[in-house]
Amino acid sequence: MARIALVTGASKGIGRACALRLAQDGMTVIVNYSHSDADAEAVVAEIKAMGQDAMAVKADVADADQVKEMIRVITKTYGQIDVLVNNAGIVRDEFLLMLNKENLDQCFELNVKGYFFCAQQAVLKMFRKKSGVIINMSSVSSMVAIPGQTVYSATKGAVNSMTQTMAKELAPYGIRVNAVAPGFVQTEMVDQLPPEKKEEYLKVVPMGRFADVKEIADLVSFLCSDASSYMTGQVLVLDGGLSL
Ligand code: NAP
Repeated sequence: MARIALVTGASKGIGRACALRLAQDGMTVIVNYSHSDADAEAVVAEIKAMGQDAMAVKADVADADQVKEMIRVITKTYGQIDVLVNNAGIVRDEFLLMLNKENLDQCFELNVKGYFFCAQQAVLKMFRKKSGVIINMSSVSSMVAIPGQTVYSATKGAVNSMTQTMAKELAPYGIRVNAVAPGFVQTEMVDQLPPEKKEEYLKVVPMGRFADVKEIADLVSFLCSDASSYMTGQVLVLDGGLSL
């Protein structure tokens, strides 16, 4: 039977690429999103065209009740969740002195609390099978100081720490937890940067380019597979040399 994978924030960008890649790997994929109905349905259609099953589920993963309802719908339809990719995240760049409380709250609500809500609900299902995989999307910003990203980097630092502790707590139950820390990836998040910022960022990447979303999805695929069966609690950096 196909493994059931939930990818949060899968209507676009890295999440979309992960959803398509996991479908290619033979999984049934749940495409979570919060606003972009048409984009999410397009991902589902693309997966179905590959011959795999998929379902779009609209839910704000920063809202614990919506997460619970999403997991209820998924398990009612498919009975199980084998893989969770905690990917939905936002960036609100601003310098410390300009810090806006609303942005601060939104970043922590989604990038940190949202990951906890999804992990907790998914693990409740994974426990029964004594197996499962969780992948948390972090960022190289958690390790390399980028001015303007105080809040974002703090949320991703929290993701790294939660990955390690969750991994240790869940290893006895056959559940592996790892994180992926990409550098700059060519998505809407990066498209929205002012051109001069993009140029500035490109200069600090030794490989001289931003990552393609498929390069991130390849690593996520590896972490979901038996090829990484002895790996847990790791934060894997994929940044074209940015952090060197
Ligand atoms: P993106 O292109 O902006 O896409 C974000 C996705 O998250 C969309 O599918 C969006 O769906 C969904 N989303 C946003 N808020 C949500 C919510 N409250 N509940 C559920 N889904 C929500 O982002 P991305 O660049 O692919 O980034 C994905 C992850 O990678 C993030 O965690 C980010 O921090 C991390 N990352 C990105 C980069 C980069 O350079 N792009 C680098 C390092 C790490 P809707 O459109 O429907 O809202």
